[in-house]
Amino acid sequence: MIGILALQGGVREHEQTLDRIGVAHRQVRRIEHLEGIDGLILPGGESTTMSKLLGLGGLLEPLRELLSGGLPVYGTCAGMILLARQVLDTRADAHSFGVLDVTVRRNAFGRQVDSFETDLDFSGITDPVHAVFIRAPWVERVGPDVEVLAVVPDGPAEGAVVAVRSGNALATSFHPECTGDTRVHELFRDMVAATV
Ligand code: GLN
Repeated sequence: MIGILALQGGVREHEQTLDRIGVAHRQVRRIEHLEGIDGLILPGGESTTMSKLLGLGGLLEPLRELLSGGLPVYGTCAGMILLARQVLDTRADAHSFGVLDVTVRRNAFGRQVDSFETDLDFSGITDPVHAVFIRAPWVERVGPDVEVLAVVPDGPAEGAVVAVRSGNALATSFHPECTGDTRVHELFRDMVAATV
């Protein structure tokens, strides 16, 4: 059972992707929705808004506890921002869970490539993954225990780190849930299955 944080943002696309691979899911909006989940997806959207809603709704501390206890988690875009230890270009009062020892920069790609698509080599996935970036963050610093899974191959943002994993935390700057490609979600399903 995978919970999808459903305070704001692109929840439906994750639901559809999990449906396609036959994984049970549930929206997480209140504390009681955390009961019995085996993994959690933090969707794309607006990280500062999600952060505010997490605080207001009382989910921030229970989630922080579950994540630091090793609950498998996958964050896309704004979700990646929420997982990072350090966030650049955000609001001073924005919260993040800090389970990924990385520094990310919000809206990092700049005006010209603000939103774009490209094909990426993704560690652990055989053929390239088509990646859709929507006002995405990138990773600027990677801690010693963090594995880089994908970088932008060419263009103005060549070399930017856009997919990482550390222990049970997986994050992508882009949105596999928007392309009909289920392979990153399958990778996450396997991470979850390995812990239950
Ligand atoms: N720019 C958004 C933020 O900072 C992220 C965009 C997205 O999730 N597609 O939260």
